[in-house]
Amino acid sequence: MNVAVVGTGYVGLVMGAGLAEMGNTVICADVDASKIERLKKNDLPIYEPGLEPMVARNQLEGRLAFTTDVGDAIERSDVVFIAVGTPPDEDGSADLSHVLSVADTIGRHMNRPKVVVTKSTVPVGTAEKVRGAVAARTKVKFSVASNPEFLKEGAAVQDFMKPDRIVLGVDSAEAEAALRELYEPFVRSGNPLLFMDIPSAEVTKYAANAMLAARITLMNQFASLCEKVGADVDHVRSGIGSDARIGKAFLFPGPGYGGSCFPKDVKALCITGREVGAPLDVLEVVERVNERQKGVPVEKLRRALGALSGRTVAIWGLAFKAQTDDMREAAALVVVEKLLAEGVSLRVHDPKAMDEARRRFGDRVTYAGHRYDALKGADALLVLTEWQEYRVLDHEQARKLMKGRVVVDVRNLYEPERMREHGFVYDSIGRP
Ligand code: NAD
Repeated sequence: MNVAVVGTGYVGLVMGAGLAEMGNTVICADVDASKIERLKKNDLPIYEPGLEPMVARNQLEGRLAFTTDVGDAIERSDVVFIAVGTPPDEDGSADLSHVLSVADTIGRHMNRPKVVVTKSTVPVGTAEKVRGAVAARTKVKFSVASNPEFLKEGAAVQDFMKPDRIVLGVDSAEAEAALRELYEPFVRSGNPLLFMDIPSAEVTKYAANAMLAARITLMNQFASLCEKVGADVDHVRSGIGSDARIGKAFLFPGPGYGGSCFPKDVKALCITGREVGAPLDVLEVVERVNERQKGVPVEKLRRALGALSGRTVAIWGLAFKAQTDDMREAAALVVVEKLLAEGVSLRVHDPKAMDEARRRFGDRVTYAGHRYDALKGADALLVLTEWQEYRVLDHEQARKLMKGRVVVDVRNLYEPERMREHGFVYDSIGRP
């Protein structure tokens, strides 16, 4: 099938490469010329495990191409996916200007019947707006569909190639047939293609993210409770996670959820709820509590170090989670700004997010080429992201390099007892 993917970010690039991998002819279009130039040379602007060889292979074999000519990509395709960003507007609602501008372009280049699919995360009712924007520009028959994406950054290729389920909101036989043909190869092992009406598909995406965000937030609150009453959140996590109704995933407490999706999607869903007269009270609280949680690492450092001014703190991990270079809404953004404002010198390390960190922090922090370089002369180590390479701490090396003995680990990577035995003043999340 001939497919255009408009927007070549984390989602568009992974889906473009994934659809090409299954034998489709895919053109990925983006208005960012420098991104497209890099992609043509297989120089990926993002880090995502397994993506680079897939892009290179499909480009070499002629199934995947990149262009800034969005109109041309649309004209060559039967199915057009809109995968552009939907960042929060000033009031927190989803900014649909990119989506609707692409819809306008699609209308202007509707040279034959096509299926126009919203892949971006958009509020309920957006497919109708897309339909209106396209129809305003063309008399050619077309269908719209909603196909929200559930991939996780850091495991995006795996998630896209082997999805738990594919949600497809359709209201025409043409759209259903095209999407069934496109996606059946991805669910040969039996996971469902869930066809439904378009509003249900649009709500499903927000509901899934809201459910996960609430779960993380509840665990963070259990962690605070555990700290007050002398319980251990790790035991509580195993205890509740073994209940089949609850399950083990997404039960790790931490410095508050971040990333490009949960924060903005929770805010946007709250706004939709208010607008339609079905306020999502629980989610309003989730959002507030999560913002507060991002302050926890600094409070823990203050408790351990006393006055922060003039101290040196090493930070391990800047990305919002492991296996990605994405720092959007990462706890690190809040923590770094708070610590700098208090006069703390920062020595930071991240396996993949250093370029992004340089862009955001400039020369206000010191960038360590190696994780142990970050520890030189530090009064404290703060572990913010759960990268695998941080999971084993070389106690002797850390003691030699650090000036102080404080380790604040908001990902619970280390064993408290062992840390104390090795002479560290150790604090983690929700553990005695
Ligand atoms: P991104 O910011 O990484 O990429 C968006 C791309 O769209 C950019 O390259 C930008 O240049 C391009 N773009 C913007 N306007 C354009 C236009 N008019 N024409 C062509 N290209 C244009 O965003 P992302 O993380 O890939 O997210 C895209 C959508 O998918 C969002 O709605 C997001 O909520 C949703 N989503 C993201 C994830 C994730 O993990 N990142 C997961 C599921 C869903």
